[in-house]
Amino acid sequence: MSDTAVRNVIIIGSGPAGYTAAVYAARAQLEPLVFEGSVTAGGALMTTTEVENYPGFSQGIMGPNLMSEMRDQAERFGAELVPDDIVSVDLTGDIKSVTDSAGTVHQAKTVILAMGSGYRKLGLPNEEVLSGRGVSWCATCDGFFFKQHEIAVVGGGDTAIEEATFLTRFADKVTIVHRRDELRASKIMAERAFANDKIEFAWNSAVSEIQGDGKLTGVQLTDTVTGEKRDLPVTGLFIAIGHDPRSELVKGQVHLDEDGYVLVQPGTTETNLPGVFAAGDLVDHTYRQAITAAGTGCSAALDAERFLATLE
Ligand code: FAD
Repeated sequence: MSDTAVRNVIIIGSGPAGYTAAVYAARAQLEPLVFEGSVTAGGALMTTTEVENYPGFSQGIMGPNLMSEMRDQAERFGAELVPDDIVSVDLTGDIKSVTDSAGTVHQAKTVILAMGSGYRKLGLPNEEVLSGRGVSWCATCDGFFFKQHEIAVVGGGDTAIEEATFLTRFADKVTIVHRRDELRASKIMAERAFANDKIEFAWNSAVSEIQGDGKLTGVQLTDTVTGEKRDLPVTGLFIAIGHDPRSELVKGQVHLDEDGYVLVQPGTTETNLPGVFAAGDLVDHTYRQAITAAGTGCSAALDAERFLATLE
């Protein structure tokens, strides 16, 4: 089955990047068709509570409320929003095709990729339930909520060490929980952590249980060598074991870097394929914030608009 109209722009993804692209494209009269995803429409902020660092909300706003506002704003200007997944794409020709989960093919002259990325999870019961209630994946986002708390950070790479060091600005104590007996992080980062008297290490340790009812009260650690278990009472748990950009859909067509992030021309949202643009955490190794995703979503819509103008 095929949707016969060739659209100006199709947007895949409904986080801050996708909805912002939708607002700009809709206000430019491009009548965007937005695939929001079937399970997590609204993106990563649907899984959190208070967002205090998105400009414009002096008292903060709940993540799902922020996303609902963005959705309404896109809809108000005429974006067509579809709560469905795109399961395959053909982005190589002048007219791009994307196929939804019912097998319907939709066509457009431009496509904006805004599928985000997923934080790697430990896969433990309670992890999702206590997300935003002590369990976090982002120190920049949530560190401020943990003043004078005792925190555990899981991971041994640069990100984990950077997050742990940052968290010592707020927390009384930060325990880095690492499966091995040495860090993967760069020497300079590791030395900074070793010198920080608020940071302790739980070597050869894995989190085997996340404890708490309604809010986090501690974790159980299992020694990866002896199998011995012990409880670590903490009110914050930051999981810093990596992210996976959701680029599988476009692999083989759009150029990706070695970690699977979509590559764009520096200073633009242009991918290697004319008419295909990418924004948000799908592209971003570094900043990974709602505001930066919204910012590049805006850029993608403007880039698409300029590209369409060249076709006229
Ligand atoms: P996402 O928000 O991840 O959205 C991607 C969307 O694409 C999803 O809706 C998904 O369903 C959809 N999608 C994926 N594949 C497909 C497909 N094939 N078809 C259709 N749709 C698809 N940032 C802050 O600035 N402040 C905070 O306080 C903050 N707190 C956070 C708390 C948590 C728990 C988490 C997980 C993140 C937090 N962040 C915060 C980070 C912020 O959420 C992300 O940086 C931001 O959401 C990235 O936006 P995005 O649009 O690139 O992707």
